Amino acid sequence: MKILIDKIAHNHSATVDELEQILSDSECDEYLFSIADQVRHDSVGDAIHIRGLIEFSNYCKNNCCYCGIRKGNGNLPRYHLSVDEIIALAEKAKNYGYQTVVLQSGEDLSFDMNKMEKIIKGIKALDLALTLSIGEKTFEEYKAYFDFGADRYLIRIETTDKDLYHELDPGMSWENRHRCLCDLKKIGYETGSGCMVGLPKQTLRSIANDILYFKSLPVDMCGIGPFIPHPDTPLKDAKGKEFILSLKTMALTRLLLPKINIPATTAMETLYENGRVKALQSGANVVMLNVSDSDDRQLYNLYPNKAGSTGNTITLKNDFLEKVRQIGRTISTTKGSARDN
Ligand code: SAM
Repeated sequence: MKILIDKIAHNHSATVDELEQILSDSECDEYLFSIADQVRHDSVGDAIHIRGLIEFSNYCKNNCCYCGIRKGNGNLPRYHLSVDEIIALAEKAKNYGYQTVVLQSGEDLSFDMNKMEKIIKGIKALDLALTLSIGEKTFEEYKAYFDFGADRYLIRIETTDKDLYHELDPGMSWENRHRCLCDLKKIGYETGSGCMVGLPKQTLRSIANDILYFKSLPVDMCGIGPFIPHPDTPLKDAKGKEFILSLKTMALTRLLLPKINIPATTAMETLYENGRVKALQSGANVVMLNVSDSDDRQLYNLYPNKAGSTGNTITLKNDFLEKVRQIGRTISTTKGSARDN
């Protein structure tokens, strides 16, 4: 197995059988993590890019079976921020020294083109890099956001198993999600995707195919996180919580795509006390730290006990900086574009 991991790390390519074999074997997990850490060091360096995360709306028109902010969850109080509140949070991120903000929300149709123009231009006037993560849009909408100044866009494919996707995302189409990723790349965004690991009925082979999908696009950024069941969703009794398998999927993605940006995801931190640090030592080079107010953070309730949903945002930042110091890594002083890697 170690020889196979070395070969993949050297060639940055693998077959679906090889990836499945590594995912199914637990003997060399620590070896895989250490090799992914080495590839990360050699390819993108030791600096960690901090993104300031603004979760600006938990309204969503979709009904994804795994997601706590799905339209059908009647137990969740809904909120959305105003244009001025969003720009003020971006300013706060800038004052914290963060050079990129990530705007994330459910698919909230009240954020029309007029509002998006004000938000994007307002944030770009602060000289920040801007990532959007607001779901499926038309080519024309993506192009308009890009022309307003948005730099990057994240949209996870969730799973490449089309049947599973259609089962878990009722009323949505896998082909349309794939179309979104192709349009974003065509327009010129730094494009991020990713998947959840540990979904019901998801096989190791399908996870191996997810990794090959990221390579085939290829993505510039890739967020991989464990699925965590939410009590107010149809998947409340599912098992999920596959921390190690998520970490292995992320580490293998690093071997195949050495120069991309890979976040240590919040879902990893949620499942395991130092999950984010473990991820940063297993191939990741990015973290997203929330800058929203505590009340809103708690309502952006994708899954229970989401890390960083309580407490002061300065404390979140300082705690993280201390952990970075302890593992001997540095904080990036650039905007952290994957294109500079
Ligand atoms: N609406 C946008 C979209 O669809 O891309 C962005 C927001 S969406 C809530 C962000 C991500 O949260 C999803 O892509 C999904 O992978 C993740 N997510 C949702 N529910 C989750 C759960 N129960 N466990 C882990 N991740 C979850």
